[in-house]
Amino acid sequence: MTSAHGALYTHKDCREVFGYSIPGETEMTAQRLDGRKLAKTIENDLAPKVAALTREIGRTPRLVVVLVGDVAASASYVKSKAAAAKRVGITADVFSIQESTTTAELVSTVEAIGRDEHGPADGILVQLPLPDHVDARAVLDAVPPDRDVDGFHPVNAGLLSQGRPHFIPCTAAGVQKMLLDAGVKTRGKHAVIVGRSDIVGKPLALLLASRGPGGDATVSVCHSHTSNLKEVTQQADILIAAVGIPQLITADMVKPGAVVIDVGINRISDGDTSRLVGDVDYDPVADVAEAVSPVPGGVGPLTVAMLLENTFSAAKERKKRSVMAE
Ligand code: NAD
Repeated sequence: MTSAHGALYTHKDCREVFGYSIPGETEMTAQRLDGRKLAKTIENDLAPKVAALTREIGRTPRLVVVLVGDVAASASYVKSKAAAAKRVGITADVFSIQESTTTAELVSTVEAIGRDEHGPADGILVQLPLPDHVDARAVLDAVPPDRDVDGFHPVNAGLLSQGRPHFIPCTAAGVQKMLLDAGVKTRGKHAVIVGRSDIVGKPLALLLASRGPGGDATVSVCHSHTSNLKEVTQQADILIAAVGIPQLITADMVKPGAVVIDVGINRISDGDTSRLVGDVDYDPVADVAEAVSPVPGGVGPLTVAMLLENTFSAAKERKKRSVMAE
């Protein structure tokens, strides 16, 4: 609802401050976009396919994860990726490498993994962030594009930009999956993405602007130099926050009825304890939006589910290549 002087009032404002509901409109508590439930469905669909492929190739598909240093958050993400892989029947092996490693050492390790010198590696993933002294680009470039299950290799980024995706970065793919699953129409809608990183914002912009289901949107990408952020986000039919600033997106930045996807994962301290929050101020935004994804339990589990799908595809393609080579 908009006041005579243009201020946006939420349903909650009307109920709590003014003591009435907006006439002719039903009170809005947004649909919670449950990423955990959808990820479980994806895993359940994938498990029998992995079992069939395992019988065909005579071994389980295998994901190799390179983990550098001892950043607690990275270790925890890797642990949940490995656990999810196990649930669907994919072997996940973690190569833990000391923080003091050099770019050259890491590149040579990744190349050796790519040559199967450490056992068959259907999918290879380098957990980010890498230590500051390491050239992350050089390391990611060393992952063979046909095993690049994170989709960060320039060949895969280029293919996505040309509308012929091979491996799509998992978080971007997860956001699109979430929208498709919730029946959110993207065609002709204005999608605003806050964040322009190579791993989330940029690939997501390409996906949402691409032709076909889950695409055909008009996409705006905002970033740290966007001067009128609120003005742009207020125009979004679909608003995606991928920034890394706790609760940056407040209710007054959201168009009533918009779909809001929160990619952010931020740990904030709460007295003696700490908790995870997203980039979206969930409760007030849920009072304005039609649907919001929570943190935790939103995009995170879907990122992992997409990684499993990519690893399965990589193993399947490898099998196909070996048959063709015979
Ligand atoms: P990044 O730091 O690489 O990029 C952040 C982006 O936000 C940049 O493009 C920057 O320009 C923009 N930005 C910074 N301040 C801004 C501001 N005030 N206004 C508008 N834009 C601003 O981060 P990333 O790797 O893309 O990750 C973003 C967030 O998503 C982080 O919280 C990260 O932990 C989270 N993440 C979650 C998942 C998941 O699976 N849910 C996966 C990857 C990243």
